[in-house]
Amino acid sequence: RRRNPHEPEFLQAVHEVLESIVPVLEQHPRFVDGGILERLVEPERQIMFRVPWVDDDGRLQVNRGFRVQFSSVLGPYKGGLRFHPSVDLSIVKFLGFEQIFKNALTGQGIGGAKGGSDFDPHGRSDAEVMRFCQSFMNELYRHLGEHTDVPAGDIGVGSREIGYLFGQYRKITNRHESGMFTGKGVQWGGAEVRTEATGYGAVFFAEEMLAVRGSSLAGLRVGVSGSGNVATYAITKAWQLGATPVTASDSSGYVVDDDGIDVELLRQVKEVERRRISEYAERRPSARFVADARPWEVAIDIAVPSATQNELDLDDARALIAGGVRAVSEGANMPCTPGAVSAFQQADVLFGPGKAANAGGVATSALEMSQNAARQRWTFDDSEAKLRQIMRDVHDAAYAAAERYGHPGDYVVGANSAGFERVAHAMLAQGVI
Ligand code: NDP
Repeated sequence: RRRNPHEPEFLQAVHEVLESIVPVLEQHPRFVDGGILERLVEPERQIMFRVPWVDDDGRLQVNRGFRVQFSSVLGPYKGGLRFHPSVDLSIVKFLGFEQIFKNALTGQGIGGAKGGSDFDPHGRSDAEVMRFCQSFMNELYRHLGEHTDVPAGDIGVGSREIGYLFGQYRKITNRHESGMFTGKGVQWGGAEVRTEATGYGAVFFAEEMLAVRGSSLAGLRVGVSGSGNVATYAITKAWQLGATPVTASDSSGYVVDDDGIDVELLRQVKEVERRRISEYAERRPSARFVADARPWEVAIDIAVPSATQNELDLDDARALIAGGVRAVSEGANMPCTPGAVSAFQQADVLFGPGKAANAGGVATSALEMSQNAARQRWTFDDSEAKLRQIMRDVHDAAYAAAERYGHPGDYVVGANSAGFERVAHAMLAQGVI
């Protein structure tokens, strides 16, 4: 806390992990003696840089760029880039720290990192976004590479931005190094199902948790927040598994649609036209828009928060519990505040933390890296089957670790413990570096 005084989100993330791995430390004193924690909370490297670019009116704009390379003990640094005005060092560090354990939990050989900028793509022309991405990559390229650091998308970084970033990397380095970025277009090195993976994975995770209690998603009402990459595909998969997704949102408010969210209309409004979510309700008679509010006041069976950190607080959790919610699967990173998480757990609501529930995205990124290295392309069905199995394995690893450490059914303890154990063993084996 003394060393990172202005980093509340980072401290929140560290606190949550440390609190939940106490049983692991008690069983493995070597992790304490080996200085694992002291090293883990300090990134291996953090890079901050100026991103100057010229807007359409010829004015100079300056943003700040970040890449925090947290841990490479299990493989090359891996984690997304976020473009949003709220991005600062605290946000990037919290995301990078979480990423270490999430990536470990997938069982694959990937380290943890995160990056981004306080650039806001909303309302910017394609040409402005391209110039920004090129300037961002003019510095970042020297820290990347398929064996060094492999970014992907996150909030504000979708297929358009990834295209511009990848193109500039190729231009500067004179290398078509497919494996240096994941989330690429499927025509130029991207993997099938990567776009869908995080949202699909979060719904698969909910299905796994429900299965433990002998139930399934069929016939249930699902509440999703956000209307970007994760939300869109969470909604799609909820439909496919027989549930009815009834909400979506953005930073202006939410829509509730009792007939179920029309995914094509949502994509048209948010992805194609890049408009506000209220436009969805204007074009859909069964839907209504609620301004400046979050969807958690709607009665639902399953919540999949898929927008941003701390978007579901204790009051929201109480409202959801009163409405009969049965399970929460975090599509976003740290969307539920610590108070909300405790409330869900005390009310015996199944709670899947983002580290486990949204790990399908990065796990499928690792599959993209494998395909790039082998110059192969797997089919959509094959890739989705692999994602399905990965989410089952992630669920089972978290579930088993929770039992092993005396907290049966607590997926927070389970996910943190299983991820931490793997990282800690590797750190001990590789010495003090
Ligand atoms: P997108 O940019 O595609 O979508 C983000 C959505 O969340 C938009 O609807 C956006 O609304 C909304 N949102 C963003 N910030 C806020 C805010 N402060 N308040 C309310 N709504 C907000 O991002 P993704 O879907 O990729 O990411 C969503 C979450 O999932 C993030 O937490 C991310 O870290 C996490 N995640 C993403 C992965 C991926 O593969 N993409 C992988 C694992 C986790 P608006 O348009 O108004 O800004």
